[in-house]
Amino acid sequence: MTDSLLETQNLTKHFRLGPDALVQAVDDISLSIAPKEILGLVGESGSGKSTFGKTVIGLHPKTSGSVLFNGEQLPEAYQAADFQRYANQMQMIFQDPYSSLNPRMTVGEIIGEGLFLHSDLRRSEINEQVADWLRKVGLNTDHMSRYPHEFSGGQRQRIGIARALILSPEFVVCDEPISALDVSVQAQVVNLLGELKESMGLTLLFIAHDLSMVRYVSDRIAVMYLGSMIEIGRSDDVFFNPQHPYTQLLIGSNPEPDPEHERTRSAVSIPGEIPSPVNIPPGCRFASRCPHAMDVCREQTPTLRLLSDIGEEHHVACHLFDEATTPAGSA
Ligand code: SF4
Repeated sequence: MTDSLLETQNLTKHFRLGPDALVQAVDDISLSIAPKEILGLVGESGSGKSTFGKTVIGLHPKTSGSVLFNGEQLPEAYQAADFQRYANQMQMIFQDPYSSLNPRMTVGEIIGEGLFLHSDLRRSEINEQVADWLRKVGLNTDHMSRYPHEFSGGQRQRIGIARALILSPEFVVCDEPISALDVSVQAQVVNLLGELKESMGLTLLFIAHDLSMVRYVSDRIAVMYLGSMIEIGRSDDVFFNPQHPYTQLLIGSNPEPDPEHERTRSAVSIPGEIPSPVNIPPGCRFASRCPHAMDVCREQTPTLRLLSDIGEEHHVACHLFDEATTPAGSA
């Protein structure tokens, strides 16, 4: 697709733990992200969304499938030269602002490291850009000589954002950038990312487990369960009109504050635990927890189908929609 900045084709990432144990962390995921789009990727912990993001950006070698960036196929497994080559185009903002910043480096060294490694700029020029980025993320330029432990979690995530964006990448994977932060600062960091996306024309894959938070910044939302993508569509369509039984329960378990009634909508918990991703049986992966499971669900893997009467780009993988739909990609 020429209108994609990034496209995954049947992307699969398995980890072999032993001769009889295969972790199917990511299975057969095909999606595309348009230039300047934010795609929210949500699911419970253990759904494979972080592994997907890391495989997309080359931090894990692919088991099979491919990733295209600007139409160019990315390497199956990155070598050092590939990281060097793609650093200016793709970056990642990590989940944990406490462990992802080197405690022995100053904030100036941390934010400027990418330019130091991947540009020919002099130290004084790098320092100018670091100061500029400290201002852009809402910190003071005199923070440059301080160390990460002197900052709060929210400030450290701002430092992580500056470190990732100083190279002006086109595409950024945000790997649960708010989940380690206090609720009070989560919205600030989401808003900062939204503003920077607008001013820089960024394209983002925004990974989160809280759908209600990510929907504000996302153009579309994709939902993962146990390594599979089970629903994808425009952000408001997925949030207000979820079709897959898992997405419906996920939204119910992440209620939004209801300002009119000064209380939250009652939370619905998802029954049971997400199963182990080791040696996943055939059929729908959600069958063991689904209130609508049928015999066919335990035998056949549902295909992602376009629900054209629900939303223009709304796809769902569930046997409840087998009739009157055609599998995605069919003529
Ligand atoms: Fe439930 Fe079956 Fe749909 Fe899976 S395919 S979500 S088990 S109804």
